Amino acid sequence: MSDVEPADELIGLVRQVRAQLLRHVMAGGWAAPGGATARPVIVPTDVIVDELADEAARPLGGRRTLAQIRADLGDCTRCKLHTTRKSIVFGVGDPNAPLMFVGEAPGEQEDKRGEPFVGPAGELLDKMIEAMGWSRQSVYINNILCCRPPGNRNPQPDEVESCKPFLDARIASIAPRIIVALGRPASNTLLGRDAPISALRGKFHDRNGVKVMPTFHPAYLLREPDKKRDAWADLKLVMAELARLGITPPGTPRG
Ligand code: URA
Repeated sequence: MSDVEPADELIGLVRQVRAQLLRHVMAGGWAAPGGATARPVIVPTDVIVDELADEAARPLGGRRTLAQIRADLGDCTRCKLHTTRKSIVFGVGDPNAPLMFVGEAPGEQEDKRGEPFVGPAGELLDKMIEAMGWSRQSVYINNILCCRPPGNRNPQPDEVESCKPFLDARIASIAPRIIVALGRPASNTLLGRDAPISALRGKFHDRNGVKVMPTFHPAYLLREPDKKRDAWADLKLVMAELARLGITPPGTPRG
């Protein structure tokens, strides 16, 4: 059972909707749900920027800020990976991103540098994000595990269990509209399933009201470049859904 008070939860939800509306205005356009008519909204930019800054800094009812979640994680020793890791790799990007990417676990480069997806798979992920019209800074990128499994082996159930509350907390804090789950472990962890990625990808799944699109992990795409076509088809579904929701990448000119 959730330990969040209903009133806190309601306040959190209202703030999420408000932050989303502010993002629409910042992006330069707003179409009412179900209506195609763009409505000019005149709000001074400095007011919106102040509002968004407040929104990012304030703990939201039951929601914690990313800084609070990172502080709770501390110098984590909750699972055995702390004995072999160099860094705790938390997440990177916009704390209000409508689009989140979730991978598996840090690799060698990520463990050295303390940032997710900075090795060869990360270079491909950056290209995929840019091809969608977004950037590393305007989305949020993280993993199910914050610590590198030795030799990049698959995450083990006890490790996932220890780290998942922090992934759940990041998702609750950021409140993305869409999550792209990269590969089988991330997809199954997010969806509470145990299915091959080929059975999950290509369609949206619901996770407590957030749409999840499973697709191939970029490290797999580096080994199997023929699968890039399928991954791109998945990402195009994500782009279409974001457009349907009226969400455009920051800096998109008014259409
Ligand atoms: N693979 C992942 O799943 N995550 C990273 O951060 C890097 C490689």
